This record gives sequence, structure tokens and C-alpha cells, in this order.
Amino acid sequence: MKNFNYHQSTEIVFGTGRVAEAGEIVSKYGKRCLMVTTPDAPLLPLYERVKKILLDAGVAVAHFNGVIPNPTTETSAEGSRMAIEHKADVILGVGGGSSMDAAKAIAVEASHEGSAWDYLFYKEPAPDSSKVLPVVAISTTSGTGSQVTQVSVITNTAERDKSALYNPLIFPKVAIVDPELMLTLPASVTAPTGFDVFCHAFESMINPGTGAYVELLAKEAINLVVENLPKVLINGSDLDAREKMAWADTLAGLCIASAGVTLPHGMGMAVGGMYPHVAHGESLAILYPACTRFTASYAVEQYAFMARSLNPSLESVSDQEAADSAYDGISKFLKSIGLFKGLKDVNMPEDEIEALARQSMVLPDYQGNPRVATEADMIELVKEAYYQ
Ligand code: NAD
Repeated sequence: MKNFNYHQSTEIVFGTGRVAEAGEIVSKYGKRCLMVTTPDAPLLPLYERVKKILLDAGVAVAHFNGVIPNPTTETSAEGSRMAIEHKADVILGVGGGSSMDAAKAIAVEASHEGSAWDYLFYKEPAPDSSKVLPVVAISTTSGTGSQVTQVSVITNTAERDKSALYNPLIFPKVAIVDPELMLTLPASVTAPTGFDVFCHAFESMINPGTGAYVELLAKEAINLVVENLPKVLINGSDLDAREKMAWADTLAGLCIASAGVTLPHGMGMAVGGMYPHVAHGESLAILYPACTRFTASYAVEQYAFMARSLNPSLESVSDQEAADSAYDGISKFLKSIGLFKGLKDVNMPEDEIEALARQSMVLPDYQGNPRVATEADMIELVKEAYYQ
């Protein structure tokens, strides 16, 4: 058996109705909380509810509601100013990956010199363990898994660069995963966020950091998404399917926290940095068919698993034959959830194909892919994803 490490420090509080425990949980970490959210109307009743839960537990709350999807260095700076003004001793992210990641970035920026961008994963000095503010996460998408990861993805608009803080200090202390909070998600957010779960689970299986524990969680997450994402797209009020998606999201988050992602995510981050209007999951959906065609014969067992989870009739064929059909399987699945499209369809300028290919090689994710792309390969991958 392959050696592996598995590390997880976030306490997971999972289940319908459990947001009610937020006051008791947050008050263990501080009495002055900055709540970090987007300003979206469907979530306003939830924000008011959480504020009341916190106030009832004796926690003084300031509300920073300026997070934008694909949060930026400006988002983090503005939230950090508010955290400092409020003398916050705990940061609560309520929302999707954007809000939870912004909360983590603020937990660093509000307690350190400089900006969150100065503490990206490859920069020195790293955040100081005695300073980083504790983070509690309440997830409302299924999703990014950010509620259980040590990652905060952030975009530097001026540099058109999307990168990440990556440090065990920013694992949320507690993740509250209450599937009822996902009932308000429109299908336009449910589909790309749900596909992101699939991608986290799958890429963690083909990453060199994978191991028996990650594989166990990843396979379960993939099967749950394939079964339940179509259900929640047909009926967004299906609580049972929402619960399964929230569980899949949490499992897949545990997978990336331990093993990491590969080529499609590295390319997806480049798309997000250069074209911030493209949702994270949407960028992955656009890139997956090309990346599958490129990689399938280099990780036959894993692509065979993917193909069979999408098409159980492949159980009786060889792994090679199943892996060969992974491209068709993923394309068909993406069509069924309305996400089969090309980069041209999200208004990427055609003359930036080479620039996007180069940007896709800035983060090291592509190097963890079973087949490592050269710059020429990367240009071909971007072209395929552009014209598809
Ligand atoms: P998001 O947080 O950007 O949310 C998308 C939209 O849906 C927002 O407008 C949000 O307000 C709205 N929304 C969220 N929950 C809702 C609900 N219950 N009802 C109605 N509307 C709701 O989307 P996301 O995909 O969860 O997060 C994307 C961000 O997370 C990207 O920046 C991505 O790069 C990052 N990410 C982080 C990690 C990590 O480990 N930290 C992993 C993957 C992706």
C-alpha cells in the first residue's frame, strides 16, 4: 500500500438545523466577531438570523458584507479594516467559498503587517501562529470544501492573478455544514459549485499526494455528486439530495486539504484570475473534457472509476476501455447539467489563448498531474477548451 499522511484539524458540525449552534461555537473562540459575507439578497434573512444567534450568545457582531465572488485583495483589505476597527477576536465566514476564503484572508491581514497577498503560499515570512485570528465557517454552497481546508483563494485584480494562501493556521476551527442553508441556491450556482465537488474529489485521486484515506473519501464524494447533483437541479428543495451534496462537498474538501488538486484546477485558477466574471466551477466544467482527453491514458484506474461512476454499464469492460470512454462520459454529464461550453462562450478574447496557457503554468498544480503538460501542450489544451 502507498504511504500517506492525513491531517485535519477542523471540527465538523454537520446536519440540518445545526446553524442554531453558531453562537455557542463562535463564543468559544472570541466575544467580538466579524461576520464576513456577500451582499446577496437571498442570503439576507440568514445573515440576520446568524447575527441574532451570536448576539444571544453574548457575541458582539460587526457585519462586513462586501465580499464579491472570486474575492479580491481589495475585499480582504476592506474587511480587515473593519475587523481592526471592531477589535474582532474571531472571524466568521458565512457563505460559499468566496465568503469563507475572504474570512480566512481577513484573519491573516487584520493581524499582520501588509496585505493578505504578502502571505501567499510561496512567500516568506509565513503567517505567525500567535497572531492569526481564529476562523469559523458556515458553508452555504456545496461547493468548495473551504470550510475544511487550509486554503484561501484570492485574486489580485491589478495583476490578473488568482492565487492562494495555504497554511494550516487558516483551517477553520469549526465548520458548520447545515444543508438547509443550501435550499436557497439557484440552479445557476448549484450546478457549477456541485461540479467543483466532483473535481476536488477526482483530482485528489490522481494527485501524487493521494492515499487510501483520500481515495475512500473521494470515491464516495464522486458517487454522491453523480447521483445527487442532477436531483437538486431538478428540485432545489430536495433536502435529502441537498444533504448528500453537502456531505460530498465536505468529503471532497477533506480530500483537497490532504492531497491537493491538479491540472484542471491550476488552469481554472488562471481563468478566474484573467476573467473574474467566470465562476470557479464553470471554469472547471469548461476545462474538464480537454484535461480528461489529455490525461486519461496516464491514470487508467482512476479514469476508469470516473467513467464507471458516470456510466455503470462499463462495469464489465476492462479498465483501459472504461478510461478511454471517460471523455465521452464527462462531456455527457456536463451536457446533462447545462455546463458543457467553451471559453469562447464566456467571452474570453481569442487572442489571449497563449497568455492563458502561460498563466496556467504559474501555479504548481499542473505539475501534480499524471501527465505533465509542456507549454505547447498547454496551448493545445486551452485551444480545445476555447473552441469546444
Ligand atoms: P461563491 O461563494 O462565489 O458564491 C457564488 C454566489 O452564490 C455568490 O453570489 C453567493 O452570494 C451566492 N450564494 C452562496 N450561497 C448561497 C445560497 N445558499 N443561496 C443563494 N445564493 C447563495 O461560490 P463558491 O463556488 O462556493 O466559491 C468560489 C470561490 O471559492 C472561488 O474564489 C474559488 O476559487 C474558491 N475556492 C476555494 C477553495 C478552498 O479550499 N478555499 C476551493 C475551491 C474553490
